Amino acid sequence: MKLTKQEKYELRQKRRLEKEEAMKAAREEQQALQNKLDEKYMKEALRQAVKAEKLGEVPIGCVIVYEGRIIARGYNRRNTDKSTLSHAEVTAIRRASKKLGDWRLEGCTLYVTLEPCQMCAGAIVQARVTRVVMGCMNSKAGCGGSILNILQMKQFNHQVDVTRGVLEERCSTQLTAFFEKLRKSRV
Ligand SMILES: [Zn+2]
Repeated sequence: MKLTKQEKYELRQKRRLEKEEAMKAAREEQQALQNKLDEKYMKEALRQAVKAEKLGEVPIGCVIVYEGRIIARGYNRRNTDKSTLSHAEVTAIRRASKKLGDWRLEGCTLYVTLEPCQMCAGAIVQARVTRVVMGCMNSKAGCGGSILNILQMKQFNHQVDVTRGVLEERCSTQLTAFFEKLRKSRV
């Protein structure tokens, strides 16, 4: 059977569409897998935040993932350590660098329950972290998109891939519940 020009054209079109659909499905599957992983690691960051809360600290937690496993954890200990450097992200970055034996954290994904401040966003850029996944935003102090977006400034030599709003509700509830309790205890 010989195909006409028109039939050949239609056949090509059909194959092209099929290929596009298959690629789209693969992309969606990949994205769904990534979302699931992001939630899994954000839950770990939330667990770190609970450790902060147990110390009476603002509950903020962080984990750093490299090649599919957690290599460092951190939680807010600012009051306990009496140090402004004791933010969850800085602690996790320090530990990750120690673990990898390198100040460069290329290939690492940092998960944090609250949008990073200017210090932590700066440290993330300095450490060349590849990707940051954040829970809820911090409109009053956040520098991952709220006040500034230090993580993605073209003027710097490194930009971070950013994903926002992973388990946002849980991350934000954890914080509001903490502040509510604090207010009540002060009355
Ligand atoms: Zn910070």
